[in-house]
Amino acid sequence: MKITDIKAVYPARKKKGTGAWQEYYWQIVVRIETDASVVGYGYGGGGEPGRLIVNGHLRDALIGRSVDHVDDIRDTWDYLYSKSLPYGRGGMVIMALSGIDLALWDLLGKAEGWPVYELIGGLKKKTVRAYATGGEPARVRDLGYTAVKYSHQWREDADYDKAAALAARHREMFGPDALLMFDCYMSWDGGVALRMRELLAEYEPYWFEDLITPDHLDELAVLRPRLAPVLLAGGEHDFSHHTFGAIARSGALDLWQPDITWCGGITAGLRILELARAHGIPVCPHRGGEIWGLHLIAATDCMDLAETHPDRRSDPDGTVLLDEPLVSGGEIVPPDRPGFGVTLKSAYA
Ligand SMILES: [Mg+2]
Repeated sequence: MKITDIKAVYPARKKKGTGAWQEYYWQIVVRIETDASVVGYGYGGGGEPGRLIVNGHLRDALIGRSVDHVDDIRDTWDYLYSKSLPYGRGGMVIMALSGIDLALWDLLGKAEGWPVYELIGGLKKKTVRAYATGGEPARVRDLGYTAVKYSHQWREDADYDKAAALAARHREMFGPDALLMFDCYMSWDGGVALRMRELLAEYEPYWFEDLITPDHLDELAVLRPRLAPVLLAGGEHDFSHHTFGAIARSGALDLWQPDITWCGGITAGLRILELARAHGIPVCPHRGGEIWGLHLIAATDCMDLAETHPDRRSDPDGTVLLDEPLVSGGEIVPPDRPGFGVTLKSAYA
């Protein structure tokens, strides 16, 4: 089948006035039409600039291309990557390209009558263990979660006692077997991290995430062995297998967290996984409980652990899907319908 049209839309978001980048450049929905009357949907990043990138240069490059095999999607990814390379390689361009890639996988799955996980190796996990990022702890526990991540950014009012109290509270509430993770969102430094490792040891944190910025691979590589057994996690702000190749060579991270809607879609995710396998690095996609990453986790040797946001689920403003699978008993089940198996709200379909 041949691609006849591509259109990205940027769902309106209510601004809360935090100044955070997500309020300006959040997810776009990409719709791809074909001459076989099959329509595919993907979810990419980049906000309004991402929408313009898809609807301009990349749309014109895509019209008329064939999508009949998984290799066609890989070839298309390489083609769009090289077309956009002078102004791309990362950031909003690859975030936008992610939406196109995911729409192509959705398209092929629908045309062949298979869920995306079947196109990329077959179902290896019927259910995936969910972890909660944020959310009121008692509610999160009542939802059945056995793995939780909470934020501890090093701001002016941050202190070690607060971090220890937070860890103690969560360990007590979730029990000795739960996984506890810390998201530092690039706000710590080596000194803070080493002190935290010592102070929090009795609560057994599983990983420290985004400790410092991804531009500091050498510093991370030096810190990494000194933080063991706490794993150094990161990668949500990195793009494609090219960037993850540099991370692998530097030895900066114990655990990789590519975001499938930002790093280049399923195609880039599979290539990143191949690299990770070669280096013995576990992969736990950022926002992996959302349908786009969930198919990758279900079909591959990604960790059996998917990030979910219990608070965002109840926010009708924050989602474009009508039937995304929800966490039940701390687990999430990939749908067995063709493509990604989700329906978009009529405003975006
Ligand atoms: Mg994070």
